[in-house]
Amino acid sequence: MNEKSGISMLKGILLMRCPSCRKAPMFINPNPFVWKSMGEMNMKCPVCGHAIDQEYGYYVGAMYFSYAMMVAWNFSLAVAVYVITGQLFDNFKLIIGLGIGSSIIISPIIFRYSRVLWSYLFFKILKK
Ligand SMILES: [Zn+2]
Repeated sequence: MNEKSGISMLKGILLMRCPSCRKAPMFINPNPFVWKSMGEMNMKCPVCGHAIDQEYGYYVGAMYFSYAMMVAWNFSLAVAVYVITGQLFDNFKLIIGLGIGSSIIISPIIFRYSRVLWSYLFFKILKK
């Protein structure tokens, strides 16, 4: 638990809060599905002043998290189709269709959580 805010790291990540104080949101618009403001972040935390957007290109590495989460999502979909239908390769078009459709829908959420995880990872590294 963070003594300053009383919010655990997991809850801070889930709520997309500042990695330092876990009080202020990292993103300006809380709705990730508004296309224009999907990636707009606070440059500095309005509560503690922590530099959320550290430098140009800071979040390029977040693509690794994004990729891993998308692979996990699509693998989970394939497993769910297999568990429900009992067939995997007979439902190949269904799996591909579900994977593409759902990936488009959840991509703003994945985008944001990849940045949050990257930010928390580097805050933990830089803090020590
Ligand atoms: Zn803060």
